[in-house]
Amino acid sequence: MLRTVIVLVTGILLVFSQAALSIPVRLPQMVPEIPDVTLKDFAEVKILQGMGPVIVYNPIVCAQAGRELCEFSRWHEYGHIVLGHPLRGIKPERMESEADQWAARNAPPDVVRAAYRFFMSGNGASPVHGESRERAARLARYLGV
Ligand SMILES: [Zn+2]
Repeated sequence: MLRTVIVLVTGILLVFSQAALSIPVRLPQMVPEIPDVTLKDFAEVKILQGMGPVIVYNPIVCAQAGRELCEFSRWHEYGHIVLGHPLRGIKPERMESEADQWAARNAPPDVVRAAYRFFMSGNGASPVHGESRERAARLARYLGV
């Protein structure tokens, strides 16, 4: 009986210590996340009548890009929501810069590093998001590079 208790307690402690050490920070789902394979990008925030903000994402684009980039995109979209962008009426360029920085500040380092590499390789540019190198620079200061 005592042996069983010791084994159980040890097992539970091991599981929790593993969780504390190796499971990356997970962003809880705060708003509905809706798949849409016709979306041209990873994801975007939409305000749906009666629902408030939702994140619409393209699961195919995400699967092709890989887990980390997809996660960065998710953190970026949550940045838009947390920073109140749908309501603030500021310039789109400023919103994108703020969302990148919020994601860089809050996402797990492996996720931010993947996005940094993606931007440094010349990807992720758009008129409102900025040049790829500019986006990489927004992340760099949170990575210490
Ligand atoms: Zn954005």
